[in-house]
Amino acid sequence: MKGSCLCSAIEVAAPDHEQISMCHCSMCRRWSGGPMFAVHCGKGVQFSGADPVIYRSSEWAERGFCGKCGTHLFYHLLSTDEYILPAGIFQDHEFVLASEIFIDEKPGYYELKNKTEKMTGQQVFEQFAPK
Ligand SMILES: [Zn+2]
Ligand SMILES: [Zn+2]
Repeated sequence: MKGSCLCSAIEVAAPDHEQISMCHCSMCRRWSGGPMFAVHCGKGVQFSGADPVIYRSSEWAERGFCGKCGTHLFYHLLSTDEYILPAGIFQDHEFVLASEIFIDEKPGYYELKNKTEKMTGQQVFEQFAPK
């Protein structure tokens, strides 16, 4: 699947994915202005055009955005070299919202009616932490 940032300076190509998750964590909400609709794209993500600006957001991850228009492009998990991209980049692709993570950090001012699997931050760390 293909996508681009708002100003089209950066184009993105990633393997097709149907299922997405939503992250309610405080960092994603600060970064995105709201919860992040996240596509787990693995390692096969290619950016072309301008280079994304990279912000090291934690010990274990960095986040990238377009330096011209500010579109959020990726969350990059360093230990596994995995890219997680905002679903909004891929405007021509249909997704299914399968899960919500960091549900314990969701603020009270919204609630999705989608039927999703819900995980707390603790459950997420237990599932994805390197053992
Ligand atoms: Zn841009
Ligand atoms: Zn998050």
